[in-house]
Amino acid sequence: MANEPTNGIQIDLTGQVAIVTGASRGLGRAMAVALGANGAKVACVARNAEKLAETVAAIQATGGEATSYACDVNDRESVNQVVDTVVETWEKLDILVNNAGITRDTLMAQMSDAQWDEVITTNLTGPFLFMRAAYMPMMRKRYGRIINISSVSGLVGNPGQSNYSASKAGLIGVTRTLSRELAKRKITVNAIAPGFIESDMTQDLVDKFGQTVIDEAKKRIPCQRLGVPEEVAAAVLFLASPAASYITGQILAVDGGMTG
Ligand code: NAP
Repeated sequence: MANEPTNGIQIDLTGQVAIVTGASRGLGRAMAVALGANGAKVACVARNAEKLAETVAAIQATGGEATSYACDVNDRESVNQVVDTVVETWEKLDILVNNAGITRDTLMAQMSDAQWDEVITTNLTGPFLFMRAAYMPMMRKRYGRIINISSVSGLVGNPGQSNYSASKAGLIGVTRTLSRELAKRKITVNAIAPGFIESDMTQDLVDKFGQTVIDEAKKRIPCQRLGVPEEVAAAVLFLASPAASYITGQILAVDGGMTG
């Protein structure tokens, strides 16, 4: 199988079933392609059905199997329906990657209730809904890999991101707690904290605040560059693999050394 999308990492996930949220573009798309190229059947979740179809096609082009589910992670019923359908169709759920996320950056004095609520709901409640729905199917099989995509903004503060930082720090708290609930069932729960990664999300920063935001950020990154989605996907692949069986409750920063 092609391993180009994963920067050379090859892991045998044949027969495993994965859900990746936010798989329509950016980091989530790279994660879905990496999991699919390494043998997992991938359920790709996001709101934009056309973009999801492109991710599915990219997985199929590597010889992998994938389906798309147009679903808003804030919609409780849809989330339960997606998980139920995946488990019914593919008979189990091994890997859940909670990647969908948004920013609504502004200083707190200007932050509206809606900006606060939207970010907390999408970035924290959405993952909760998926983890709760995945809990029993994973318990029944006594196997699972849950990977929550947090952020360095959940580890250290970032002006203008109080809503986003709170959601990502909250996700770290949920990760640590759930890892303790599930460890004896051979289900691991970990988080990844990406730094600055090239995607629409970082492009939005440039559009809003100008290129200097990125230039200033690079000065704080020991690797002196932004990461690419495939570098985060490689970390997801490892944590999703059977090889990562003794790693749980951990937060892996993929940030070019920024928080090192
Ligand atoms: P992105 O390019 O903006 O993509 C976000 C993804 O989330 C899209 O696939 C989007 O799909 C999906 N999404 C957003 N709201 C959704 C909703 N309500 N329901 C379902 N799907 C939804 O962002 P990205 O840079 O790839 O970021 C992916 C994750 O990494 C996020 O959790 C982000 O916080 C985290 N992260 C990114 C960076 C970075 O530098 N890029 C750094 C740290 C952490 P639709 O629009 O089709 O729904």
